[in-house]
Amino acid sequence: MEECIFCKIAKSKISENIIYQNSNFFSIPNINPKVKGHALVISRKHFETVLDLPNLIGSDLLDCIKNTTLKLFKEDVKGFNVANNNFEIAGQVVHHVHFHILPRREDDNFNLGI
Ligand code: 5GP
Ligand code: ZN
Repeated sequence: MEECIFCKIAKSKISENIIYQNSNFFSIPNINPKVKGHALVISRKHFETVLDLPNLIGSDLLDCIKNTTLKLFKEDVKGFNVANNNFEIAGQVVHHVHFHILPRREDDNFNLGI
């Protein structure tokens, strides 16, 4: 079966700049950023949605979200959104669980829509 794009990145078959990583997750800049610094936290193993993630790797997920965000915090970053789409109806395009980190700046004209 054809590997998904995030599995290929996880196995370094496609080179991306790693922002932060631990045993179960890594983060990279989004190829199509919605705001400056838009990053993705991705599981190393293929899980489709949050519902498939084992509870035990929850602390590595939080660690990766927090440390990725801290690396993205520049002087003009005043906050951030964490977003996660599950299943197509909710906007999931890549069917490998991932979390969007969106650094927020004054006048960035971004609206998460929730
Ligand atoms: P979704 O809508 O599934 O939550 O978002 C998938 C995200 O993955 C999109 O924001 C898209 O820009 C990003 N993406 C898709 N392919 C690649 C890729 O090959 N590299 C990187 N860095 N991001 C990707
Ligand atoms: Zn995958």
